[in-house]
Amino acid sequence: MKKIYFDHNATTPTRPEVVEAMLPYLSDEWGNASSIHWAGRAPKKALEDAREKICELVNCSPVEMVFTSSGTESDNLAIKGTALSKKKKGNHIITTKVEHPAVLNTCKYLEREGFEVTYLGVDADGMIDLDELSDAITDKTILITVMYANNETGVILPVEDIGAIARKRGVTFHTDAVQAAGKVPIDVKKINCDLLSISAHKFYGPKGVGALYLRRGARVVPLMHGGHHERNRRGGTENIPAIVGFAKAAELAMAEMDSESRRLAALRDKLEESLIERVPHVKLNGNKEKRIPNTTNVSFEFIEGESLLLNLDMLGVAASSGSACTSGSLEASHVLVAMGLAPELYHGSVRFSLGKSSTEEDVDFIIEKMPPIVERTRAMSPLWNEAEGKGMEIEFSEKSCSR
Ligand code: PLP
Repeated sequence: MKKIYFDHNATTPTRPEVVEAMLPYLSDEWGNASSIHWAGRAPKKALEDAREKICELVNCSPVEMVFTSSGTESDNLAIKGTALSKKKKGNHIITTKVEHPAVLNTCKYLEREGFEVTYLGVDADGMIDLDELSDAITDKTILITVMYANNETGVILPVEDIGAIARKRGVTFHTDAVQAAGKVPIDVKKINCDLLSISAHKFYGPKGVGALYLRRGARVVPLMHGGHHERNRRGGTENIPAIVGFAKAAELAMAEMDSESRRLAALRDKLEESLIERVPHVKLNGNKEKRIPNTTNVSFEFIEGESLLLNLDMLGVAASSGSACTSGSLEASHVLVAMGLAPELYHGSVRFSLGKSSTEEDVDFIIEKMPPIVERTRAMSPLWNEAEGKGMEIEFSEKSCSR
């Protein structure tokens, strides 16, 4: 059975060129980059060369880039680090309801520690209201953290406008660009952000390595106290093989971004349009224009996304759903709920995220297989009235899993 991977927003396969670039630093060049003797020389050079390359991806200078263990750590360092460094100035943070848990749960933690957080809502397209953002800023606001691109819908938020507002009002601005990096051009100078998080494994680099852009002058209290690594901003011996792989992935992403974005957007649009055309009761979730090129999120009304995923998995197709059925409770996607989707829509959502391996043949396979899967699954759904060919009016209980 052919395996089709349409879940690149979860992670991507490590590219062979990336693995090859990493190998010497897992064998011969095993030294500590902080050592002043011969063993540290090549790793140190590799570290600084990699930093320069990754800086090109977001247009910053090497002193402004701190390596971390993940996008999650970068978000934590940006948010907790800013909160701790500015707590004398104020205790208010602004974010959105559609952030990744790496941001949302960090903000929730800070609320328990006495900070106040405003969670901005979004409209049906997944967009925030800039006036609402401006109105939420008070003299106690120390940080605005709004993601660049949403991981579930692919929607790109108006980060340049947010940056302009933040700069004008003197508030630090962090953006989680984990889903944007390597997929769309990023320029921290245009965005006017102070902090920006990225992660290697979302664009064919290794897992367990990320970076935080920290504008010159932006101060964060370190989360990792230790040696003088990363200019005292993140203690811990640098993971040279992973960082070298990260840089190789960045180099390849920059070289191929234009052509690959166009190719993926065309495949994604074909998939999305064909599904909407051929399957009844299908809706696109999120803004159709402002989004990263590889992602589509569609709702198959009156079905659970999970059952569609299981059927697709049996055919070798990996995709993902907005809701996850864990330990007997069906958790709805906080992103789709924030966008105001009705339960019969957000329960039936599926995210297809395309990538380097995706072909027209893969897209055609899904377009062919999806209509009968939907028909079968819908016929068995308690939410669907097969005789009348329409959905039933049923009250959803968020805590009950219907499987
Ligand atoms: N932020 C966003 C938007 C993401 O999509 C992810 C991963 O899914 C993360 C942060 C976390 O990144 P990592 O897996 O490197 O910790």
